[in-house]
Amino acid sequence: MSDSRRPGFVMCVCTGKCPGFEKMDIWDFINQVRMELPVEYGIIHPQLCEEDGDRYLEQTLRQGTPIVVGGCAPRMQRKMFRDAFEKKGLDVEKDLIPIDVRDMTTEEAVSKVIEAMKENGVYDD
Ligand code: SF4
Repeated sequence: MSDSRRPGFVMCVCTGKCPGFEKMDIWDFINQVRMELPVEYGIIHPQLCEEDGDRYLEQTLRQGTPIVVGGCAPRMQRKMFRDAFEKKGLDVEKDLIPIDVRDMTTEEAVSKVIEAMKENGVYDD
């Protein structure tokens, strides 16, 4: 894998009040992802499916850099982020790697991210 396929990682915490993320330590999780996994960056966003989330995606998405989003169901993510990806000339089916990390411990969520990155050919260890 070339460096240009190294993805960005965004953890969407669903306002920070969603019971789906109560089992994990969100700060331990994002710090493990950004420091230990082969990602360009790792950040936490409060609510990617709100209007400012769309604006955030439009400001930060760029061709050649896929993004992995930890959050809710992949099907929902693709639906909600499709327009922002299209506006930037990206394909939500290929350039988004959506992962459902709800109801997981920190370790379970990190493992799931690694597994999804490997499955999608963007894990360069
Ligand atoms: S994208 Fe999913 S996880 Fe993020 S705020 Fe919306 S519903 Fe919640």
